[in-house]
Amino acid sequence: MWSALQGRVSNRLARHFHAAPHRLPAHAPMVSFTFDDAPDSAAGQGAELIEKHGGRGTYYIAGSLIDRPSDHWHGLSNDAIVRLHRAGHEIGCHTFSHQSAPNLDEAAMAREIERNRNHFRDIDSSITLENFAYPYGLASVRRKPQLARTFRSARGILPGVNRDVIDLQLLRASPLVDRDIDTAGVDRYFDEAVASGGWLIFYGHDVVDAPSPYGCTPNLLRHALEAAGKRNMPIVTVAEALRRIGA
Ligand SMILES: [Zn+2]
Repeated sequence: MWSALQGRVSNRLARHFHAAPHRLPAHAPMVSFTFDDAPDSAAGQGAELIEKHGGRGTYYIAGSLIDRPSDHWHGLSNDAIVRLHRAGHEIGCHTFSHQSAPNLDEAAMAREIERNRNHFRDIDSSITLENFAYPYGLASVRRKPQLARTFRSARGILPGVNRDVIDLQLLRASPLVDRDIDTAGVDRYFDEAVASGGWLIFYGHDVVDAPSPYGCTPNLLRHALEAAGKRNMPIVTVAEALRRIGA
């Protein structure tokens, strides 16, 4: 309980401390689809749909969950990771054990990142982890500067469009999760991204007809991809988005 409270407090403070502010270029709306952990369906049906719409996704992977069953899905395989990487999707970093940042001291966080890096290097030496996503979306005041030295960006789960001056070390991301949002909600985010010239990031997990409480149906993903197409918004990885905004 105390630890959960500390985590929440740290997460709130982390929004304001050690920000890495970056001003977006005028009017360059774009969207990134990100998947955490990640389930095999995100690498399968999820990637397939994104590719069909001319985009690529970012997969923030925890090495300990690879090829493992969990309560809600089966983790993607090493082969699937290599396939994603070779198809131009981005492999990003979660913590190896999926522990949250507020629960890790500096040495423990460094070990988590190193274990993840080593895992991916072993399966394909051309995979480099440039970007990070906080497990459970829990940022940490103490870990934020450490992560800023290690990664180009860190993504949370604070919803909303990244617009005007954004914090590269706590990127906003909105749920592409059926339990949290419907097609009208998805459209509202896209409209805000167009109006502000901002960068919209979605996060999700599984992509199946009967998704977990943390995932979406193929229909919701397809709707979001079509929403991007209707607005001529490029569908890019987080790494590519950072290049486009000159970060
Ligand atoms: Zn996760």
